[in-house]
Amino acid sequence: MTAPDEAERELALRTVDLKKAYVSLAGPVKALDGVDLEVSAGEFVAVMGPSGCGKSTLLHLLGGLDRPSSGEVWLNGSRIDTLGESGRAMLRRRAVGFVFQSYNLVPSLTVAANVELPGVLARRPRRQVACRRAELLERLGLATKSGRGVTELSGGEAQRVALARALVNDPALLLADEPTGNLDSRASDEVVALLKQFHAGGQAIVLVTHDPKVASAAQRVLSMRDGRLVDEARLDRGQRARPQEVAGLVQLGSGA
Ligand code: ADP
Ligand code: MG
Repeated sequence: MTAPDEAERELALRTVDLKKAYVSLAGPVKALDGVDLEVSAGEFVAVMGPSGCGKSTLLHLLGGLDRPSSGEVWLNGSRIDTLGESGRAMLRRRAVGFVFQSYNLVPSLTVAANVELPGVLARRPRRQVACRRAELLERLGLATKSGRGVTELSGGEAQRVALARALVNDPALLLADEPTGNLDSRASDEVVALLKQFHAGGQAIVLVTHDPKVASAAQRVLSMRDGRLVDEARLDRGQRARPQEVAGLVQLGSGA
């Protein structure tokens, strides 16, 4: 083992005692109940846990889609939970990329226009954005689909377009919420292979998944229960854990 260099010790993300309560008809719901999380620059972290334990809420707060009830969120050394609406909008355009289970592409736009959208919204030079879009679509095996409507795509293709869109502004952090949840196993494998490739190129990723096979692509797997991180497993860097090992770790973390 070599000592981590300066770049590796840098944090892409840090949360301090992060809490989020929602008000529902049945009364307040503690969706997050004190989450302390650190993600290094370039690290790939998976978050697993049962439905309703707060995974999506956590990702929304990490990416500035919503604000916490209390606690802190730091992205690349800047505190983001205190930003107002426009500051968070800017942050979402420039510093984070989101991938959702249901792709969330704009149906009236072509593949190319969907991918370019975050670049256009961030007011980057059109030529630069088009260049990055072409590069990403090539890399994701979608170059020939550039002019197509997104409604013509298969689920796997749609999710790859969503991945290109999330990465078009070269975000410090990629957030993926059950990105393979709607895909068959082959398309899921493709998306996971792509996430690994981007991670190998230095992309920090926080991935929420139910699937131990998908989680085993990460370097670290966190288990969440009732709004808290309850366990973590570091997967060997060189030798990825097998899915059944990850499933075992997650069960160990499930508590009583
Ligand atoms: P997960 O992604 O792990 O399934 P969520 O983060 O979506 O969990 O939800 C955590 C808890 O917060 C659940 O009890 C859910 O019902 C509740 N919740 C999520 N969003 C809202 C909301 N907008 N209003 C009220 N309750 C919510
Ligand atoms: Mg969710």
